[in-house]
Amino acid sequence: MNAILPPPASVADLTEAERTRILAKTARFAPPPARTADGRTDLVGLTREELVAELDRIGEKPFRAKQLWHWIYHQGATDFARMSTIAKPMQAKLAEHFIVGRPEAAVVQTSTDETRKWLFRFRDGQEAETVYIPDRHEDRGAVCISSQVGCTLACRFCHTGTQALVRNLGAAEIVGQFMAARDSYNEWPSPKGETPRLLSTIVLMGMGEPLYNYENVAKAMTIVMDNEGIALSRRRITLSTSGVVPMMDRCGEELGVNLAVSLHAVRDDLRDEIVPLNRKYPIAELMAACRRYPAASNARRITFEYVMLKDLNDSEADARELVRLIAGLPAKVNLIPFNPWPGSPYETSTPAAIDRFSRIVMDAGFSSPVRTPRGRDILAACGQLKTESRRERPPAR
Ligand code: SF4
Repeated sequence: MNAILPPPASVADLTEAERTRILAKTARFAPPPARTADGRTDLVGLTREELVAELDRIGEKPFRAKQLWHWIYHQGATDFARMSTIAKPMQAKLAEHFIVGRPEAAVVQTSTDETRKWLFRFRDGQEAETVYIPDRHEDRGAVCISSQVGCTLACRFCHTGTQALVRNLGAAEIVGQFMAARDSYNEWPSPKGETPRLLSTIVLMGMGEPLYNYENVAKAMTIVMDNEGIALSRRRITLSTSGVVPMMDRCGEELGVNLAVSLHAVRDDLRDEIVPLNRKYPIAELMAACRRYPAASNARRITFEYVMLKDLNDSEADARELVRLIAGLPAKVNLIPFNPWPGSPYETSTPAAIDRFSRIVMDAGFSSPVRTPRGRDILAACGQLKTESRRERPPAR
């Protein structure tokens, strides 16, 4: 008897199924509701529509949302009493139902090179780190933001990877890191247009894999890009992924921010070991997703992060293979001398090896800067972040 086989699933169906699976897993690590113990809702992290809905709940008209948006995201106000375009009785009513929150800065450290690191504590006591890296030559810099407490991915060269995923950060906690960093540099109201600002760039390269917490990250970045508030352009935001291929497509279509890929190895056998996500989405699939990324076809360069590990991934043959992989892409390669952390299993490549590698990539026409380690003395450099947060028990399946 001939069995009737179901039609084969298309690649698009498989990708959609995979995205659904990732989003379901993300939900198991959801953040707690953004509310205080006395039941007031945090207005930070709400979309404009959600803000309107919250105001409606207390019998207020939608135009208030525009006013509040300006005070919260343009002026940086955290106290309703400072919102001078809102009448006093209304200020009191808002304070009765809402807060404009910030994560608590439990520890702030400033490196000898001016890099600043915050250990932020959230309402449920969980913690994550944020780093401000000033530009050495100009009055501006990048804020490196965390998207999760801990990480599931366990990349072998990364300190965060030794800390199990505790939970995802909510939109309020993600955008709140940037807002608290701004408080610390007194950078409110938001500078307009080309006016110089210190905190001029966001890199989603802190703790966690942002594409495993896509919806909260996307919400936070949409808020940050809103023109009537913080108003950072998408060109000033870079999302770094280890290669969650199905979500890269969605991120490209919906957010269109710059993409950085933590590549770190050019052969599947080695990448399987140091970036274990590679076993799921191998190099060929990852590179195909980079070629599909919409910003790349707009000639915006994709950054490939490559940590230099002594005698492991730093040979001339590796450099040549890297050039072959990225041929034809608008790309830049950031070479990162490995930043050791307590108990780390690797050594940094020698300066000569890094130089040789960089020359081969540059001779092929790609920019290939060697990233100067920043904030190593306070464990703020790339791959060094970690907190004491632990998951008490695994979330229910
Ligand atoms: S490099 Fe990024 S994805 Fe990998 S373990 Fe570290 S934080 Fe997680």
